[in-house]
Amino acid sequence: MLIVKKFGGSSVADRERIFNVARRCVGDYKAGNDVIVVLSAMGDTTDDLLALAKEINPNPPKREMDMLLTTGEQVSVALMSMALATMGIPAISLNAFQVAMHTTSSYCNARLKRIDSERIRRELDMRKIVIVTGFQGVNKYDDYTTLGRGGSDTTAVALAAALHADACEIYTDVEGVYTADPRKVPNARKLKEITYDEMLEFATLGAQVLHNRSVEMAKKYGVQLVVRSSLNNAEGTIVKEETTMEKMLISGVAVDKDVTRISVVGLKDKPGIAFRLFDMLAKHDINVDVILQSIGRDGTKDISFTVSQDQAQEAMDVLKNSQKQLTFQNISCKSNVAKVSVVGAGMATNPGVAAKMFEALYNVNINIKMISTSEIRISVLIEQDEADAAVKAIHDAFRLGE
Ligand code: ASP
Ligand code: MG
Repeated sequence: MLIVKKFGGSSVADRERIFNVARRCVGDYKAGNDVIVVLSAMGDTTDDLLALAKEINPNPPKREMDMLLTTGEQVSVALMSMALATMGIPAISLNAFQVAMHTTSSYCNARLKRIDSERIRRELDMRKIVIVTGFQGVNKYDDYTTLGRGGSDTTAVALAAALHADACEIYTDVEGVYTADPRKVPNARKLKEITYDEMLEFATLGAQVLHNRSVEMAKKYGVQLVVRSSLNNAEGTIVKEETTMEKMLISGVAVDKDVTRISVVGLKDKPGIAFRLFDMLAKHDINVDVILQSIGRDGTKDISFTVSQDQAQEAMDVLKNSQKQLTFQNISCKSNVAKVSVVGAGMATNPGVAAKMFEALYNVNINIKMISTSEIRISVLIEQDEADAAVKAIHDAFRLGE
């Protein structure tokens, strides 16, 4: 078997943990498997490097940022290879250049395009454990790029797809994907399986177990993933196209607190207004999430929408600067809101999920400000300080802990 194993930064944070990972890899290797290990930078290295850059230049050139950030993963792969060497296990570390992981040209947020597999194959054929830097690539200018925060998951999935691996295991500091955040909801249950689509909803909802691009890629190439803990041997959660073991109506409740609501009041109620407003935001690369438009009255209407907190100020500025053109009377912004969502592939074919969720909120007297839905998700916007209570109430109503 060819196994790709990815370990996050906390799993290689110090000497002891590096040896712990090394031992796990050796187990699979000695059982006769080919093993590729993808690593993130140790502990908070990436954050520390970002902070260091800002000390030198508050607005660092993106190319140089990638030169800096890619060093983090290079440290962990070299140390891992050294750890394996002390155990007498043949291993080799490779960075994005040595593998040849080709990406798009944009620095700091590049996308993987193609991976050359020859070098890795050659090393595996010599019975070496191959340790690859996560998160990084090379663009057409022969410069380093990075894949966006948390991008090592995507590296692992891409390698598994390119080399037709038999297994792709993502090791992290939690045991898998839960029905809710186990730190907040004590009876949250670990899921045995979850579909790619459900996982994608979770990933974008702030349950940051997997980088969402890695899930997109796994879905596209049919790479089955296992998310599990690097610290124990507990069974993890399998992420795949269709789940069979648990025909769950709802698989979990997720919360996103990084939400700001912006309300634009008194827009002219005529064609093209919504287009102009959102076009303006799109041109500034501002991502809009939930949108609500009121019914028109006296020739005017209101539009509210949500953005992430770090884009709120820019969104406000952009709109205020075009108040005349957009014809609104006033604009306001509220940051202490949260988005709580139920996710479940089963809801597409089962009525009554929304009613049950709203009832659960009503029972604990929580007011809903906005609602949005997809085929497999229902989200509500509520006051942020009510978010934990809301998650618990919904989790109980759907009996997810049982
Ligand atoms: N080290 C990078 C980060 O912290 C990539 C990763 O951890 O996946 O974002
Ligand atoms: Mg990291």
